[in-house]
Order: sequence, then C-alpha cells, then structure tokens
Amino acid sequence: MNFLSLIEAKREGKIHASEQIQEFIREFTAGKIPDYQMAALLMAIYFRGLDTAETTALTLAMRDSGDVLKFPRDKRPLVDKHSTGGIGDKVSLPLAPLLACLGFRVPMISGRGLGITGGTLDKLDSIPGFKTLLPAAQIVAQVQQVGCVICGQTDKMVPADKKIYALRDASGTVPSIPLIVASILSKKLAENLDALILDVKFGSAAFMQTKADARNLAKAMVALGNQCGTNTRAILTDMNTPLGRAAGNWLEVKESVACLESRTGFQPVPRARQRERSDLVISSPTSSAQAGWKPALLCDDLRLLVLDSAAHLLVQTKKSKSLAAARKLAEECLNSGEPRKKWDEMLVAQGADLKAFKKKLALDSTAPVVLELKSPRAGFVSKCDAKIIGEVIRDLGGGRLKKDSQINCDVGVDKMAKPGGRVEKSGTLCRVHAADSAQAKTAIIRLKTAFEISAKRPAKIPLIIEVIQ
Ligand code: URA
Repeated sequence: MNFLSLIEAKREGKIHASEQIQEFIREFTAGKIPDYQMAALLMAIYFRGLDTAETTALTLAMRDSGDVLKFPRDKRPLVDKHSTGGIGDKVSLPLAPLLACLGFRVPMISGRGLGITGGTLDKLDSIPGFKTLLPAAQIVAQVQQVGCVICGQTDKMVPADKKIYALRDASGTVPSIPLIVASILSKKLAENLDALILDVKFGSAAFMQTKADARNLAKAMVALGNQCGTNTRAILTDMNTPLGRAAGNWLEVKESVACLESRTGFQPVPRARQRERSDLVISSPTSSAQAGWKPALLCDDLRLLVLDSAAHLLVQTKKSKSLAAARKLAEECLNSGEPRKKWDEMLVAQGADLKAFKKKLALDSTAPVVLELKSPRAGFVSKCDAKIIGEVIRDLGGGRLKKDSQINCDVGVDKMAKPGGRVEKSGTLCRVHAADSAQAKTAIIRLKTAFEISAKRPAKIPLIIEVIQ
C-alpha cells in the first residue's frame, strides 16, 4: 500500500475509504508501517478529524486487530462500564460484583492510570496476590463461573490500540475525539458486550475540560457503540471534585469495600430532585473491620454513581422497565450484602490471598506517614479541587510521571471534606498518606490550596448532569 499518499490525503482533508483504513491498521499491527509515518497520519487526523464512517471503520479494524472474546450462549447479558477517568474514581470495583449479583456477566477489561487520573489495574495491584493479567480462556471461564472479572487486556486483544496509543502519547495526539472514540470502543467491542454504560467526565481533573467537549465525545461514542450492535449509553459526570472521600490506589480499594458494605434505606426521590438525589442516607457498614471508616466517612456520591451505572444497564438490557425501578433493584441488591461476598469470590478466583487482604483492610494506613490537614476556620467546604489532589498523589508516587514509573500503592489522600459539608475550626479537611514525613509535609502545603471554606453553604453541584442515549 502507498501509505504516504494516505497521509497526504488526510493532510489535505480528504476522506479515507473503509478498505484503506482496514489495510493500514493490518499493516501497522504487523509492523509493516514505520512509527514515524503512523505518527504523521495521527497528526493529520488530529487536525482534520475523521467522519463517522471513517471512525467506525477505524474502530472495527482496531477491534479486529486481535482476539475478540467469545462467550457461550447464556441468558445473562454481557455488560460493562467505561470511565474516561478521574480522581478517586473507583466505581468499577464495587460495580462489577454488584452487576454479577444482578444477573449479568461482566468481562471488565480495564486500564492503568493515565496522566493524573487513576487506573483500575493499579488499584487492584494493591490487593495481595491478585492477578490482573489473565489469558482470554481464563477471562471467559471466570465470567461464566463467577459472573465477573476485572483484568487487563491480553497481549492478543486490540494490539493496534496498544501501538497507536503509545504513539499518540509520544506525538501529542491523544486529545482527538475520533481517536479517543476508536481507542475506547475498539477495546469494549472486543468484549462482545450486549450493553455498555460510559461515564464521560468533565472538569479540571478530566480529559475533557468542558461539558461541551464531554458531550461531543459521549455522543460520538454512544452513536458508534449502538451502530456496532452494543446498546450504549453515556452519563456526563462532574470531575472538578474527586469521587468519594479517598484517592490513591490502596485507599480506593478500601473505600470500595466500604461501599460494598454500606447500607441505605431506599427512599423514592421526588421528581423535582431526581437529578441530584442527595437524600440517600448511608447507614453503618456491616463490618467494623475497617479501622478508620465510620459511616460518616463513606461518601454517597460513590454509591450514587455505582447504583446509577447499574440501573442504566438494567434498563438498557430490559431487565427493568424504568430507571426508578432499576435503582431500587440495584440498591436492594447492594443492601443484601451479596455483592460484598461476590467481591471476595472474584478476588479468590484471581489468586488473591483473602486472609492477607482482610488483615490489610483492618489497618488505618499502609503508608509510613499519615498527616492531617486541618481547617483554618469553621464554615462550609466550597471547593475540593480534584486536579490539585490528583497532582499531589501522582507526585507522592501514586501515579506515573513517566510511562515506566513504579507506582506506590500505599500513598494517597483520604477523609476528604467535600463541597457542601460543614467543617469546624481545626476539623479534618483531609489526611495525606506518604512514604516519608518530608513528602507528607510538602503534600500538606499543596493540599491547602485545594480546599476553600466559605461562611455560606455553597449551592449543590449535581454529579450526573446528563444522560446521552
Ligand atoms: N482511554 C483510552 O483507552 N483511550 C484514549 O484514547 C483515551 C482514554
């Protein structure tokens, strides 16, 4: 193939035929197109874009560059969730076992942290013995038997994305909507799903800084997912504030277990308030094994997002007739305690040492130093800046500055005071978990700038602002 003419055509804003796209993805995956030429094409795409047919062809060609998971026929629908990433976003962890208990099969193929945003696999690495690299046959077998798996993509799944993503990262071409759509959906479509819920985040700590950009990305992914035969919906969620009260790999696993152990009384939400649903009342976790987690420290935004993600999938697969009925079903299931048991079952299936895990859960911190940031005055928290908190955690060693940086799973920030919450003078704004006291002190100085306290309670900021279907 004459790849140079394809680069030139895109540089001039011309359209590629599907067959051309299929061919260059095949050739690039086979190592027959040099990286410098592919990087040039990616830059041309970054500036000129791809139309819908081109984006579809690219997505499907990337999906078909490797293995597509094949599952036996089963009445349990195959579903998954994908988040575009944020700070404290641990939804996948409690969601997978919840979905399995709701009668779904969940082949949740996840990724590592990108930029300041956390990665599900990095979080799971903090569980003693837990394996995230599984061969395709084991993924399928575990999904059939346990109902859920959370693991990384195998070497043979979507190899084109692995190669292209590395080039995008090194050539400044990551923030291109058609390239993001193809990258995310090629991996999700390789799971052979019946339904997919996308959590597209916007805000200071998100890939998409504005609601408008997030909406455009969500619309493009929803249209393409549905066109490719997977019932796809997206929710647009706020990522100016971290999700939950903990961020950092192990601390997020701990909060996920607290979420699985939390209980609420289900209260139907008046129609006028359905968008904000602030009235989910969290009562005590069933187990007091987790030192440091009191009910008041469990944040309802995490629980809300877990339940709403499950509820959408129940409606998408026609297991529930309405979102209200689906939310009730999901909530009853979480309250039953079965998803907490399913979590342990999933851990054991993936090689975790449950005894060591429970021992670790009982510790207040696994980091050598814990320091508290105290509020300078009484008032209401009006800001808890996800971007600053994400950067602090990355610099503590909880994220990657370079592609091959070693992650420290123990560091992070917890007990975060969230916007709208009342704080007393010298009350806790957050705690930092660090490798040594010098790093902890530096982090505390930076974290001071993440919080703002005001005399008046700030207006409530809705977490989910829109559903796109
Ligand atoms: N996540 C992905 O998997 N791909 C992208 O391009 C962006 C986020």
